[in-house]
Amino acid sequence: MTAPGNVPPAAVDHPVPVAAMPADAAPIADRGMATDAPRDPALPVVVVGAGMAGLACAVELARAGRPVLVVEASDGVGGRVRTDRHPDGFLLDRGFQVLLEAYPAVRRQVDLAALRVAAFDAGALVWTGGRLVPLADPFRHPGNALRDLTTPLFGAADKVRLAAFGLRARNAGWQTAREAAGAPADDVSASEALWGAGFGSGFVDRFARPFWGGILLDRSLSTSAGPLRFTLKMFLHGKAVLPAAGIQAMPEQLADRLPLGTIRLNRPVEAIVTEGGRAVGVRLEGTTIPAAAVVVAADPPAARALTGIAAIPTDAVGCTTVYLSGARDPGLGRRLTLDGTGRLSVNHLAPLSAVVPSYAPPGKHLLAAVVLGEAAAEPDDEALARRARADASQMLGQDATAWTVLRTVRVPFSQFAQPPGIFGRLPGTTTDTAGLFLASEATVDSSYNGAIASGEAAAAAVLREGG
Ligand SMILES: Cc1cc2nc3c(=O)[nH]c(=O)nc-3n(C[C@H](O)[C@H](O)[C@H](O)COP(=O)(O)OP(=O)(O)OC[C@H]3O[C@@H](n4cnc5c(N)ncnc54)[C@H](O)[C@@H]3O)c2cc1C
Repeated sequence: MTAPGNVPPAAVDHPVPVAAMPADAAPIADRGMATDAPRDPALPVVVVGAGMAGLACAVELARAGRPVLVVEASDGVGGRVRTDRHPDGFLLDRGFQVLLEAYPAVRRQVDLAALRVAAFDAGALVWTGGRLVPLADPFRHPGNALRDLTTPLFGAADKVRLAAFGLRARNAGWQTAREAAGAPADDVSASEALWGAGFGSGFVDRFARPFWGGILLDRSLSTSAGPLRFTLKMFLHGKAVLPAAGIQAMPEQLADRLPLGTIRLNRPVEAIVTEGGRAVGVRLEGTTIPAAAVVVAADPPAARALTGIAAIPTDAVGCTTVYLSGARDPGLGRRLTLDGTGRLSVNHLAPLSAVVPSYAPPGKHLLAAVVLGEAAAEPDDEALARRARADASQMLGQDATAWTVLRTVRVPFSQFAQPPGIFGRLPGTTTDTAGLFLASEATVDSSYNGAIASGEAAAAAVLREGG
């Protein structure tokens, strides 16, 4: 993808004076000089990381008139939200992702119309072992599930339960999955929430496991019920969409709102520099960038390494996407297609180019086959891709040779693990070190919504506390 307009071509120069630092400094390097003096307001707030959290934080700070500098370790903005252009003209997101347009934080920060988003159908197809069974619009209008009484997937009683479960979620005031989890002591797993609501195994195993398993990246549904309830609310209030230029267009839109030169790429921060217990800058390449305040918006493992804050979660949930191309229409329409048997290595198929035609060159189709959990343990990419292609072909009822493997994308840290109770243990936005703030999904929940909300909260804290 192209670099956003505010990234200078070289993206290498320090924008502010630098001071030499000892090379053996600890992750948080303290120069040991007491300082109660207010920081120079002309100094930038340094944001570490240009993922959704860091960008949202920087946008809010810039909007408030604060000088801000975003320092990013990698070669582009977006963090986990990146898109690559395949030489044959396909847009390949770094792992299949979808944007729920109802996410409150997305509505606050992202101009979806400008991204020219296209939507998946609200209905799904479910593979039952012998055929694909359509499931019409189970969420948009919970009562609609009642109309579809002929589906063999689950019984009428579960349709009534889904309507009641959905109406509760639709009317709840949750703004994040964290809020939907409720009090940490009352939090239960997604599967316990479904069993507790009385759903039968037809609903849970054939639909809920592959559907929410694909969202939580956890088919066992041992993840907190918070993300399940919150995403259900999101599906009741909006669609699952993708931008015409790939998912990275979303962070690029935020980056483009920042003043020219705000973002420095290929600059991994090595340490937070403190003086007298206050964060006063960041160290990279043996030099210090002075800062009015530092916001760490790195991914959770990197944020923990930089700050030493033990509450930052580092248990990972991974996801592998095998991108397949073919000349023949997969015949799924714009519907997600779920493995309702639990026997395939592929949890779900996404007919990407049917939803967003710009994801494939003319005359070609792009399909994402998503492999979760143990099924992705196969270390050999080719073997894994062959298995995924065979499973996809079986679900489609097409010959496997009709599909070519374009790329296998493994993202071992796609989300942090969110077991029941996790949201009560997450770190806050402020830290024990004055002038040091945390953004990152790690302070809210593992999603675009959580990441953006964390960035907004960090910016508000910086402005409030005069960093
Ligand atoms: C395959 C996949 C599918 C997903 N699907 C969805 C989905 O459908 N819906 C959804 O809501 N969420 C989804 N997610 C999760 C979502 O992408 C994340 O929750 C969110 O993007 C996290 O944003 P972040 O800014 O907190 O962290 P990140 O995106 O990880 O950004 C952190 C940034 O900090 C940088 N950094 C790290 N260390 C340093 C350092 N020392 N110095 C400078 N920079 C540093 C990193 O390079 C990175 O750019 C998915 C994730 C993946 C990988």
